[in-house]
Amino acid sequence: MAITLPDLPYPKNALAPYISEQTLEFHHGKHHKAYVDNGNKLIAGTDLENLDLETIVRKSAGDPSKAGVFNNAAQVWNHTFYWQCMKPGGGGPPTGAIAQKIAADFGGYEKFVEELKNAGVTQFGSGWAWLVLNGGKLQIVKTANAGNPITDGMKPLLVVDVWEHAYYLDYQNRRPDYLATFVDKLINWDFVNSCLA
Ligand code: MN
Repeated sequence: MAITLPDLPYPKNALAPYISEQTLEFHHGKHHKAYVDNGNKLIAGTDLENLDLETIVRKSAGDPSKAGVFNNAAQVWNHTFYWQCMKPGGGGPPTGAIAQKIAADFGGYEKFVEELKNAGVTQFGSGWAWLVLNGGKLQIVKTANAGNPITDGMKPLLVVDVWEHAYYLDYQNRRPDYLATFVDKLINWDFVNSCLA
């Protein structure tokens, strides 16, 4: 099986009260798992079957005949990345190399926060808000549905899931509150620094 469901990098109750155990049970145990199961069904017996996940995402992107494969494989990639972007006791201003890079490329942490929240709030319908490295510069981008910036040549450093299933049990329709909590309480800057390195 090329596509696997990784364990969460922390216990299911570790992000409470900001993201509840119930949300992680459904989000990881049902939604993420379904993308893994469906992706494996769709690649079985095809030329994608034995490739690594990132290659499957790249090869299926933009090919209408492989839309199902792309949607499921990219959602697996995105969720696996998203879990690592959070940690208990995370959030707040960054440290390390990313702090200097954010100051240089955004003109300050507050501007970065404003742009990330704005991307998340204005993504109409389901999708993702990302911090990426694009041509050596930090940039905030948003993608719809399963979209992933690697297919546009960008390097993801941080992502927040703005599909309703990511926050509805805890925040109902209040996506801006979920985004503010992600920024203030959850971001794993150590992971972001490791991606930047
Ligand atoms: Mn999700």
